[in-house]
Amino acid sequence: MNIVLFGPPGAGKGTQADMLIQKYHIPHLSTGNIFRAAIKNETELGLKVKSILDEGGLVEDQLTVDLVAEELAFARYNSGAIFDGFPRTVFQAESLDKLLAKKDARIDFVFSLEVPKEELIRRILSRGQGRTDDTEEGIHNRLEVYNKETAPVLAYYKEKGLVHDIDGIGTVEEIFGRIAGFLH
Ligand code: ADP
Repeated sequence: MNIVLFGPPGAGKGTQADMLIQKYHIPHLSTGNIFRAAIKNETELGLKVKSILDEGGLVEDQLTVDLVAEELAFARYNSGAIFDGFPRTVFQAESLDKLLAKKDARIDFVFSLEVPKEELIRRILSRGQGRTDDTEEGIHNRLEVYNKETAPVLAYYKEKGLVHDIDGIGTVEEIFGRIAGFLH
């Protein structure tokens, strides 16, 4: 099963991904986590993308898609993945469809976590993970990029009838219950 967790920065995608992994044992594919690990390990990729992440911009589409293609080649993804932070542009969404089609697979569910902007900012500022992009300016940039580049991805999936809107306000368990309700 392939699931896309969709929503603006701070919507709780990572948290819900963790809950889904625990319950359904589907591997997590977070492009943000991959980029942060590369930066931490000072790999070639990390050096290339560090300033982009710090500024809240988007890493170039083809680079991101190639990275996901490489990742999806691992056998652990043979029965599916939870995509978190990807796709972030319509190009990425189209590329993902092609990658999955090669494996005779497809996106089964898109869960769109809905959280008002004020709450997103509050959550990001209070998560205190010390991420270098979690500054007022970084958040502002990421929300702007989200509205411009990423929001159209939702329309792309809506047209395919794959989207379930999830109220992203409540306890972690409540929100998970809303998602899991579609998976039985
Ligand atoms: P959040 O959703 O909290 O902003 P992520 O961990 O998903 O955080 O992403 C952090 C940063 O990594 C983004 O602001 C962006 O710079 C980069 N990034 C992550 N995923 C992608 C992607 N699919 N395409 C381009 N850039 C990405």
